[in-house]
This record gives sequence, C-alpha cells and structure tokens, in this order.
Amino acid sequence: MSISENIKRIKASLPEGVRLVAVSKFNPVESIEEAYSVGQRLFGESHAQELVPKAQALPKDIKWHFIGHLQTNKVKYIVPYVACIESVDSLKLLKEIDKQAAKCGRVVNCLLQFHVAQEETKFGFSLDECVEMLQSEEFKSLAHISIIGVMGMASISDDEAKIEREFSNVKNIFQKLKSEFFSDKESFCEISMGMTHDYPIAIKCGATLIRVGSGIFGERMYQNS
Ligand SMILES: *Cc1c(COP(=O)(O)O)cnc(C)c1O
Repeated sequence: MSISENIKRIKASLPEGVRLVAVSKFNPVESIEEAYSVGQRLFGESHAQELVPKAQALPKDIKWHFIGHLQTNKVKYIVPYVACIESVDSLKLLKEIDKQAAKCGRVVNCLLQFHVAQEETKFGFSLDECVEMLQSEEFKSLAHISIIGVMGMASISDDEAKIEREFSNVKNIFQKLKSEFFSDKESFCEISMGMTHDYPIAIKCGATLIRVGSGIFGERMYQNS
C-alpha cells in the first residue's frame, strides 16, 4: 500500500481523541510530502540532524515532534522547530530545553518519558525519579517549558498481555501525576504510546498519541532506537 493509503487507513481506524504522529525518520522529504498531501500535519523525528533540514524544507504548518533520545548539546538545534519534545528523561535535559526556549522567546511543550519496558536499553524516568524532579525547586522555576503529558514504549515482544501491562503502567503513571502535580493544568492531557506493531493495544490502554513509522512509510533501511 502507498503512504497516502496507509495514512488514510490508520486515521480511519482511530477512535476520537487519538491522533497519529507519522514517524518519518530515515524517510525522505518526498515521502513526507505524500503524507502531507492527504492532510497529515503531525510528524515525528528522532535525530536533530534530520529534523532541522526537513523542518526548513517543508511547509510551516507541519508540527514536528521530537521522539528520540536527545543529548543536551543537540537541544539548541531543534528548539526553534519543534512543537513537542516527547522524550524528556532528565532534569538536566529539561533545564537545557528551558534555557534554549527562553533564548527563542517561546515555551516548548514536553512529554516525560517513562521506562516501562523490560529492555534495559530503553530510556526514561522511573516514577520515583520523576516525582523527585517534579517536587524540586529547580523544576518549579522553569518558565519556558510546559509538561503536557507522558510517553512510553513497550517491550519488543509477541506477548500481548505483557505489552498491555506496560501500556497500562504508562496510563497509571499519567493519572498519578495528573492528580498529584497537574490537576489544575488542562494542558497536561497527552499519553503517547504505541508504534506500528502495538498501537491497537496502546489505544485500548488510553493512548492519545500513537507514533507509527514503518506502518506508513514501509520498513526503514536502518534500524534505530
Ligand atoms: C522509530 C520510532 C517509532 C516508530 O516505530 P515503527 O515501529 O516504525 O512504527 C515510534 N517511537 C519511537 C520513539 C521511535 O524511535
């Protein structure tokens, strides 16, 4: 199936309140243009050096979500272009985003990434680490970031019950943070979880954003995290 057909099919299957992030990493500008031509405006990239030239070349009404592991020294390159950084996994990173956002005179939307999968290789906070950060004065002083929700990745597995447990864990973390830290913040409302092979499970568990790459653009030439 073509890119445009994949987009239409996936979008038609989404319940209300769930939006599609088309993960275009390793795919050329032409492929993004095809997705754009059928109305897709939300795209995900996982490398700064890829996001920046694409954002410069493509229409300005595209919303770019950064979804990969982000090194602090790369933050300054992407901050002018991103609508959301989904992969915040430390206070150090958040402070750098805040600093660069201040320089650009903007407030950058962020998701807190949680480590819920079995694989040690995956990034993200534990709930305890995150709570400690949210309680800190340093965090409370950041004025150029807005935390709009959480992000998580399930284990790579054929065990659907396991994937469901991990996504449910992300949802539980969201609800806990919502009630303890963000109850007065309507903007804290996003749960980003689910990729090509597990997004139907993620939707069942309460995802508001799904991140689909190969299911739209085909298998990538390079495997990446
Ligand atoms: C690559 C990637 C995706 C998309 O993965 P697919 O299996 O191609 O759908 C989603 N989220 C993150 C964080 C990714 O790095």
